[in-house]
Amino acid sequence: MCGIFGIYGHPEASNLTYLGLHALQHRGQESAGISASDGEVVRTYRGMGLVVDVFDEERLSADLAGHAAIGHVRYSTAGDSEIANAQPIAVRSARGQLALSHNGNLVNEISLRRELEGQGSIFSTNADSEVLMHLIARSDHDDIVDRISQALTRVRGAFSLLFMTRSRLVAARDSLGFRPLVLGRVPRSSSAPSASAYVLASETSAFNLIGAEMVRMVEPGEILTVSADGLRSRRIGELTDRDVTSTPSTPPEPEHGGDEETRFCCFEHIYFARPDSQLGDRTVYFSRKALGRCLAREQPASADVVIAVPDSGTAAALGYAEQLGLPYELGLIRSHYVGRTFIEPSDSVRHFGVRLKLAPVREVISGRRVVVVDDSLVRGTTSQKIVAMLRQAGAAEVHLRISAPPTRNPCPYGIDTPTKKELIANDKSVQDIERFVGADSLGYISLEGMLEALGGADGRRYCDACFSGKYPVAFEAPEKRGPLPQSARGPGR
Ligand code: SF4
Repeated sequence: MCGIFGIYGHPEASNLTYLGLHALQHRGQESAGISASDGEVVRTYRGMGLVVDVFDEERLSADLAGHAAIGHVRYSTAGDSEIANAQPIAVRSARGQLALSHNGNLVNEISLRRELEGQGSIFSTNADSEVLMHLIARSDHDDIVDRISQALTRVRGAFSLLFMTRSRLVAARDSLGFRPLVLGRVPRSSSAPSASAYVLASETSAFNLIGAEMVRMVEPGEILTVSADGLRSRRIGELTDRDVTSTPSTPPEPEHGGDEETRFCCFEHIYFARPDSQLGDRTVYFSRKALGRCLAREQPASADVVIAVPDSGTAAALGYAEQLGLPYELGLIRSHYVGRTFIEPSDSVRHFGVRLKLAPVREVISGRRVVVVDDSLVRGTTSQKIVAMLRQAGAAEVHLRISAPPTRNPCPYGIDTPTKKELIANDKSVQDIERFVGADSLGYISLEGMLEALGGADGRRYCDACFSGKYPVAFEAPEKRGPLPQSARGPGR
């Protein structure tokens, strides 16, 4: 999980990138970085922490001045919190400067790394993004977009990428479209609203903040180049492109519609993306409400009130309540001011962490039969504590409903999930999990119901491997990675 943002052709490129990253902060809180070009030099600054902690006005206006920029926010994983893993990655070679922001995970990184090391490449990190940089450096083409296009034919897995050179911004998305990447336009200045700059972002939440309009999703397998020549498009592997500058802004097409099989990550709709973001033709908020309604049809409960585990369970809980005609109330309040340090070091601190994050509203819960809706159940320990908290607040009954199917498999495509052994649904039945979490009843949405609610019932639009075990792209097993230090696994996208 990471968030990426890019802009070309705007006098305040770094400032808007800063704001864009701020609106993508939910996709990563560990580190933030920006690379900016003034047409002569690409300058990069990265730091640990939130966007507001890493950048200040002077750094943005003085050190990162320019008309083009890319940025990155990175998701935090335990023990993997180092500045070396922050992005954008920036390199300088005889062919010029290149910076890269990456969301996703390359699943053939290990074999590629061995091949490149055999040919003399020296790596400074174990990040998969560095493998990509080496492939680009070794390309026999002169033009940077040709080199990127050639390099991308060698990598497999999930990637939404933004590259920055002195004079170009290049965006690319893997051919199955696992991770989102959206193209938009923003006015260059309020005095000339018809002149616009191109923006690219993981989610449209970044556009909403800076006043940009969505043009379309970057297509799976597409490479888009923005430069002084306008907007150009090609497919991965191709060496020529076509001018799409004048392509009109059209209502968004259904993401991954048509005949091609694609595999957008369904967890983006269930949990990761911000509810106000539009992914293809679907706004995440309405996806979650549809999941909640389907969950209610499949797993109804006799109850007095529906509450959510905030924030990502809220929309699904609303849909659930609507479907059954039950009242929806704010039964749990989330504190937004808890640092991640509180939930990492030990079991006792983790337990405390849930109480720090969530607090029950007693008057909503006491003496009532409560349905509590959450977006996922991974290890089961957090749900166990939430159920206990609701009982302590006086709930007469607690019925836990999950707006995702049982999570049985880890994700190799850039989401930091626990190992298969740690996933409670891997080897426990729903009844066993119900007993473990201490709920009066537990119900998950079915895989078929989830796909139907997300408009993917034909099975061609979504990756659902963490539920179904059907991995659309073969991946190298983690144990093949050898004795690499945890801290060097690379950005934990
Ligand atoms: S395995 Fe799960 S989390 Fe990973 S891309 Fe597929 S649906 Fe998303």
